[in-house]
Amino acid sequence: METIEQIRQKAILNHIPIIMDETLQEVGKILQELNPKTILEIGTAVGYSAIRFSKYLSEDGYIDTIERDSERVKEAKQNIANLNLENKIHIFEGDALEILPKLNGPYDVVFIDAAKGKYPIFLNEALRMLRNNGIILADNVLYKGYVMSDYNKHKQRTAVRGLREFLKNLQENKNLSTEILETGDGLAISRKIN
Ligand code: SAH
Ligand code: MG
Repeated sequence: METIEQIRQKAILNHIPIIMDETLQEVGKILQELNPKTILEIGTAVGYSAIRFSKYLSEDGYIDTIERDSERVKEAKQNIANLNLENKIHIFEGDALEILPKLNGPYDVVFIDAAKGKYPIFLNEALRMLRNNGIILADNVLYKGYVMSDYNKHKQRTAVRGLREFLKNLQENKNLSTEILETGDGLAISRKIN
């Protein structure tokens, strides 16, 4: 029987990029206030963030979460079962680019936390399924400072390009009110206003 703290420790040991404590704190404040019924997460990893978020769900609320790495899906399912959260957290295994078009929502919250180069595509899918007054949260949007600096290694180029386009799309979208925090690795918070 693993506790949530053991899940966290193990993920850190295995270099799985789980949500940072300070980011979780910010997201927690927002979720607490919103008390969402439905959350969509893109990027489950081992289920750590979904498990943390689940305590803010309304009575019959649930989280749909997508992960393409089958080993991580296996571990996430185990973690979720150990904590008796199977009725609240549903894992969809596969590439989010293929799974998202099959989902309909609507969702009160979308948490984007997967391939950085794909954030603009994830945003379009999130907008399609987001409820009015819903919130899109996106982690790692400043990517260790690379997004706001003009020198980037080849390895990071696709990610940085995707994140810059994503932030531009957020800011230019008249239906969204967006705030970008430097918390953790950068957290974008966008509320759908009409
Ligand atoms: N939200 C988790 C951490 C997610 S790490 C937490 O905070 O606990 C990002 C995860 O996204 C990785 O496990 C990676 O395998 C997955 N991922 C990246 N691109 C993806 C894609 N296109 N479709 C589905 N999963 C993806
Ligand atoms: Mg992250």
